[in-house]
Amino acid sequence: MRIILLGAPGSGKGTQAEKLMEDYNLPQISTGMLLREAIDQGTELGKKVQEIMAAGNLVSDQIVLDLIRESLQQPDSANGFVLDGYPRNINQAQSLEDLLNSINKPLGSALLVDVDSEILIKRLSGRRTCSITGKTLNVYFSSEDEINECIDSGGELIQREDDNVESITNRINVYKEQTEPLIDFYKHKNLLKVIDGEGKITDVYDRVIKTLEL
Ligand code: AMP
Repeated sequence: MRIILLGAPGSGKGTQAEKLMEDYNLPQISTGMLLREAIDQGTELGKKVQEIMAAGNLVSDQIVLDLIRESLQQPDSANGFVLDGYPRNINQAQSLEDLLNSINKPLGSALLVDVDSEILIKRLSGRRTCSITGKTLNVYFSSEDEINECIDSGGELIQREDDNVESITNRINVYKEQTEPLIDFYKHKNLLKVIDGEGKITDVYDRVIKTLEL
């Protein structure tokens, strides 16, 4: 299974990629996560991208292509992968196609997780990660029990640096301008599948499984 997950920031594609990874033993390759790791580790790459990411802009195509190329060379990608957050513009999609063709592993599907813009803003501005469990929570949508589980275990609710209103607005605009054209790109290649990304995580996941015929 070689798939990419398309969708606006906050559409929940990362959450769905994580579930696919657990159930099907496929690596979730998330460029956003790899870049955040570089920032946390204080590497040269991290220093280069920190400001760009905090503002919600895209980092250079070359940087993310290098990350993807390296991830796809890892042995755990041999039987498939779920790309989450890559590609994000037509140039990246073209590079990915060339890269996958060169290793004879073309893409199987591009799955769009479709969510209304108003919901996206609430999902992003309310998003927190528990510092102990690493679980993603939401101050608007998570139950009191889920939030307390983190707090009671001594955890803190951490907000991503780019989950502030200014950056969120910019990220959604960048998505509309640069990433949305990928919907047509993959439609023309007969690879596009679309699911409704609203509702409970488990319900969305059922749609993912059904649509990908897993
Ligand atoms: P994400 O975790 O997918 O929401 O990505 C967080 C941020 O990382 C984005 O707002 C960009 O600044 C950067 N980023 C992640 N993936 C890419 C990509 N494919 N191309 C350029 N920038 C990216």
